[in-house]
Amino acid sequence: MGLLHFQAANCKNCYRCIRTCPVKAIEFKDNQARIVAEDCIFCCRCMKECPQNAKTVESDAGKVLRMLQSGANVIVSLAPSFAGFTPDPHGYIRRLYRAGFSQVRETAEAAEEVSRCYEEEFRRKGRLITTACPVVVEYIEKYSPQWTPYLAETDSPLMAHAKWIKERYPDAKVVFVGPCYAKKMEANQQPGYVDAMLTFDEVEWLPLLTAEEEVSAAAAAAAAVPADVPSPLMEARLYPIDGGVVETTFKTGSEQPASTRLRAVSGIENCRKLLSSLKELPEGYFLEMNACEGGCINGPAAGDHIHPLLKQDRILAYRQHPAPQGSALPMEKKDMIRRSFRDRSKAPVRYSKEEIRDILLKLGKERREDELNCGACGYDTCKDKAEAVLAGKAELYMCMPYAQTRAESFAHVLLEKTPNAVIAVTEQHLIKEVNAAVGVFFHTDSQQLLGLPLEYLIPAEEITLSPGEHARKKLYFPELRKTAIVSAAYVPEQQLYLVILHDLTEQEQEQEKLRALKQETVEMAQRVIENQMRVAQEIAGLLGETTAETKVTLTKMKRLLLEE
Ligand code: SF4
Ligand code: SF4
Ligand code: SF4
Repeated sequence: MGLLHFQAANCKNCYRCIRTCPVKAIEFKDNQARIVAEDCIFCCRCMKECPQNAKTVESDAGKVLRMLQSGANVIVSLAPSFAGFTPDPHGYIRRLYRAGFSQVRETAEAAEEVSRCYEEEFRRKGRLITTACPVVVEYIEKYSPQWTPYLAETDSPLMAHAKWIKERYPDAKVVFVGPCYAKKMEANQQPGYVDAMLTFDEVEWLPLLTAEEEVSAAAAAAAAVPADVPSPLMEARLYPIDGGVVETTFKTGSEQPASTRLRAVSGIENCRKLLSSLKELPEGYFLEMNACEGGCINGPAAGDHIHPLLKQDRILAYRQHPAPQGSALPMEKKDMIRRSFRDRSKAPVRYSKEEIRDILLKLGKERREDELNCGACGYDTCKDKAEAVLAGKAELYMCMPYAQTRAESFAHVLLEKTPNAVIAVTEQHLIKEVNAAVGVFFHTDSQQLLGLPLEYLIPAEEITLSPGEHARKKLYFPELRKTAIVSAAYVPEQQLYLVILHDLTEQEQEQEKLRALKQETVEMAQRVIENQMRVAQEIAGLLGETTAETKVTLTKMKRLLLEE
């Protein structure tokens, strides 16, 4: 199953996805934003935010269609947030049957068992972080691994359900229909249980069976579905609402110790804030965490167009209906749904004050007040942005105030208009500023040159940079096959050298052409003279005088050409 993809977009000066990414797992190169998969927690906020829809998720709809057409036993695990997505939940389930699925089972039936495991683990350990959200797990494992010991060691309802279905129907294919792409990533981490995933709206793309097929499919479904113990309500249908895990787990209202604190936190920022404000989970805390604000009902594929309160009301209403299969899922093999967690964090890279200052200086941020921390580059502070540049995730010029100041400066306009390549070089011989003509002359992206030694462009032995010296020299650049007059002068006010290249290549080529033309003309004149002389010798008496005159004229012309 594929995950997040991105396509080429006009990202220059946008940076919205970087701004919205809670863990800055996006790198920016050559005017393109790219997701760094190993840093990503799959919250999909960047997908929702991109004005150009540059980030997409590969759809499994074609794969599901092929499964159905092959006549395989395909069972749906339907996430409980579906009831918020549609005004007619029973009609939605019927629609799935009419697409050819042999059973449509609600993931909530496994969530009931998951909650029983949570309750038992909480009683045993006295504190617990629970989550059905793979984004929260990714965040903790990658960015806050000190919290992994507190995570409940039970599979999410999706994985528990898929495992149970595979155990009971070994030949079946399991298709999860849900509100969230991160579930794909979760399923990939334990391969072999979930065969494909559809979002709620993708179900609409599946063609309906013919009337005849429908009758036989319904009969087959009735035969396949066991008569489970009827259960009047499925509390776990509340799982997708913030607080639903707590409510399902402690639905009996049984006596809890006085120290018990049941807390639900949703929204990745809120989860982060809470985790960073605690040193350890206090005794008695039962935490429920969801990356999406309000819970899975507001997942990235749960229907943005529907108001969250309406979704919530629909789910509360649907909970009143008995489960279609009346199932309280018996998890005979509890060990099957146990899981563990590991520290997947990267060792933090620390940059020195000097390194950061150097980057800030290149952006003209010499004083504290120059650091506007405006966030236009996607980073919260200029310092964060400088660190991203050092980490190779951001490009230096991604600074709107800097770009604006540059664009507005008259000197800059002049620099950009001149055909000469102009390079400003620090006293340490590092390139501080270049105009566009530098990129043209050296066939490179001129912005990439900032911070590099001048020697990268011009061999040090070819040009002397010294405050007291005004250097000027004609240089040939063999790799570029170009010639230029290179001059360098020191600007004491700026403590910079100005190196200017005046490109002579075209001029030299023209002169070369002219030289070749002259040579050709001279050779031609010589041939005419020789020819004339030969003829003259043969008929000297008759035409002697005229030939002598022609020879004088041509010899004169030849001398003139050679002298020029
Ligand atoms: S999916 Fe989330 S974590 Fe990953 S790059 Fe996008 S915003 Fe960042
Ligand atoms: S949101 Fe990101 S991917 Fe989309 S256009 Fe802006 S910079 Fe590019
Ligand atoms: S809270 Fe959001 S990201 Fe997490 S599982 Fe639910 S829909 Fe997916």
